[in-house]
Amino acid sequence: MIEALPPLRDVVARHGLAPKKSLGQNFLFDLNLTGRIARAAGPLAGATVIEIGPGPGGLTRALLSEGAARVVAVERDERCIAALEEIAAHYPGRLEIVAGDALAFDPNAPAHEGPLRICANLPYNISTALLTRWLETPGWPPQWDRLTLMFQREVAERIVATPANRAAYGRLSVLCGWRTQARILFDVSPAAFTPPPKVVSSVVELVPRAAPLPCDLAALTRVTQAAFGQRRKMLRQSLKGLGADPLALLDAASIAPTARAEEIDVGGFVRLANALAASR
Ligand code: SAM
Repeated sequence: MIEALPPLRDVVARHGLAPKKSLGQNFLFDLNLTGRIARAAGPLAGATVIEIGPGPGGLTRALLSEGAARVVAVERDERCIAALEEIAAHYPGRLEIVAGDALAFDPNAPAHEGPLRICANLPYNISTALLTRWLETPGWPPQWDRLTLMFQREVAERIVATPANRAAYGRLSVLCGWRTQARILFDVSPAAFTPPPKVVSSVVELVPRAAPLPCDLAALTRVTQAAFGQRRKMLRQSLKGLGADPLALLDAASIAPTARAEEIDVGGFVRLANALAASR
């Protein structure tokens, strides 16, 4: 089926899809690579896949060809919609195109009978904003059972970091580690994209934890913001703006007042957040 569609470079030329930097457009034309990403999100039989930023549709084709029952593709660039409609015509009833902003799209909303997944070569300018939004949802576990996403390598390293990787460990690591199990699957060289970005990319898998440590989300956000906002300082200093006595919070969380943010694991931040929530 995928072979019956015109080559992606022809699609881009015919629809005038010159990549726009402002939309984070770095397209993938290599069918081996798009197939590999789609298989990493699989097995897809019976699955509904949300794809963010399908662009000309390289990964969209791979997801459908790998057997996704349905792909819901959210694209902001109106120039791409006609190209995507051609793919929809090849896979009747299996591709739903949503023209709009992914930041306003609720990934828990699509109706689905089998598993619901998110798979995307994300626009880098909003990749962490999207991931944070999906993970900060009040209800947990979410409807989706896996994220398979392309990020800049540096962001991927922050997602999977623990206190053992101090330079990369930060707020995003704590949020991801609290609610998901995250791992880097493979790297993708800049040469695989058109145009090539300046940096190496990585495909990351995040699987939601069924039962994350019980924690007040708003308090966790405040605590990690304060702690990593001044990451070189000791926590007894960096937690001062929280409206609670930092020494009492640290004592309640069994954390040394001289510790720094980058030394505290997810469990420690959860204890601190719960201590803050209880102090109010
Ligand atoms: N999936 C295509 C591929 O792999 O060749 C394109 C990936 S490109 C890195 C990112 C895509 O996200 C572009 O098509 C861009 O137009 C789209 N995009 C950028 N910002 C968006 C937003 N806020 N909502 C939805 N799509 C967006």
